[in-house]
Amino acid sequence: MNRTRNIAVVGAGASGLFLAKKLSEVRSLNVTVFEKNRQVGAKLRASGGGKANIFNRNIRPDHYNQPAFLANLLKIYPPEQLENQFAAWGLVTISDDEGRVYPATQFSQTVVDVLSDFSSDHIRITTEHDIQHVEYKMDKWIVDDEPTKFDTLVLTSGSPAGMIPKNQKGYNGYVQSLSLKVNDLKPSLAGFVLKDYPKSLSGCRTKAIVSLYQGNNLIHKESGEITFKDDGISGIVVMNMSAYYRRLISPNNCRLEINLTYWDENFDTNTYLHNNRNINGLLHPKLADLYRQNPFDTHRLVFRIADTYPLEGAQVAHGGIDLAEIDGNFASKRFKNLYILGEMLDVDGVCGGYNLYFAFASAAVAASKIRNSGI
Ligand SMILES: Cc1cc2nc3c(=O)[nH]c(=O)nc-3n(C[C@H](O)[C@H](O)[C@H](O)COP(=O)(O)OP(=O)(O)OC[C@H]3O[C@@H](n4cnc5c(N)ncnc54)[C@H](O)[C@@H]3O)c2cc1C
Repeated sequence: MNRTRNIAVVGAGASGLFLAKKLSEVRSLNVTVFEKNRQVGAKLRASGGGKANIFNRNIRPDHYNQPAFLANLLKIYPPEQLENQFAAWGLVTISDDEGRVYPATQFSQTVVDVLSDFSSDHIRITTEHDIQHVEYKMDKWIVDDEPTKFDTLVLTSGSPAGMIPKNQKGYNGYVQSLSLKVNDLKPSLAGFVLKDYPKSLSGCRTKAIVSLYQGNNLIHKESGEITFKDDGISGIVVMNMSAYYRRLISPNNCRLEINLTYWDENFDTNTYLHNNRNINGLLHPKLADLYRQNPFDTHRLVFRIADTYPLEGAQVAHGGIDLAEIDGNFASKRFKNLYILGEMLDVDGVCGGYNLYFAFASAAVAASKIRNSGI
């Protein structure tokens, strides 16, 4: 008979809750989840505009900053397996034409509720406990001044993207005590602040084909809705651009080229203007105003990029704990019985369910390793 093992999980977000739910199936594990907030799953609830796009059926490894690692993970734990897991837990899902999967309720709270329904007494969630210190001593993990000494520690405390007040420092500061290699955190899936930008466009929403260039190199091109802000531009298509922008070693001299005739890349604007003598029927009124003041190429409205919007306005962080610290099971290579999951790691993907897939899949893989390991 297996002896009881004590597992500590830091963070009750997407990956922490998924892991705890999975481990709740194993009676010989006592799991304590520490969450600094009063409520669990805050970012998961905010995901997908409150609908939570929980994964994508057509995930491509090259849409992450770590394609080789993701190619392997997708083999070990493909999206179908995640879909089956959610179905087994009673979550009814729907998907759209682009493979994006949502809870059928279209309500992110449903996912949090399903993941935090443990129906077992050996999972304990301790909220309002902001972990400050973890330490490995005599084959046990010590977490703050908790009386329980843990056999296994799982770090799932996410990243500061999207949720924190501007000046909060030392997020995940407790990790410093482990001296893990952490790559600088930068905003990804964020809009862009633009140089020489006409503020008059603020509030304009339109569809467009957007291309990101660095010098003469086309980095990424995508079509979708864009929103002009006071000092820059946002929208899913632009946020995806920012993920590719972050991957550049030195993201200087970058610009966005916007083709406003998205329905026909080569739409003949000159003939249209010749016949109609008015831009009003072609462009959003704010863009039409701008055109009248200063005519531009409707296939190539160019803006130079100053930077992305800051981390607190981003959906994910680029950077985090270096993948060299873990193996394919998300176990630390340096510390015994330590696992690191989700957005704490230096993995980020584009919009469309990529980041929640990673949080859930990392938890699934680690859970099966933990349940099968003797310690
Ligand atoms: C606005 C928004 C919309 C998004 N929409 C989508 C989407 O639709 N689809 C998608 O795939 N991704 C989306 N994402 C990204 C996705 O939500 C994250 O990548 C995912 O939640 C990461 O999961 P995680 O478990 O690693 O971290 P989190 O879900 O952030 O969980 C970490 C938990 O740890 C807790 N914690 C932190 N430090 C400590 C500590 N010291 N002690 C105790 N607890 C601690 C936090 O409070 C938190 O509850 C969105 C993100 C944002 C901000």
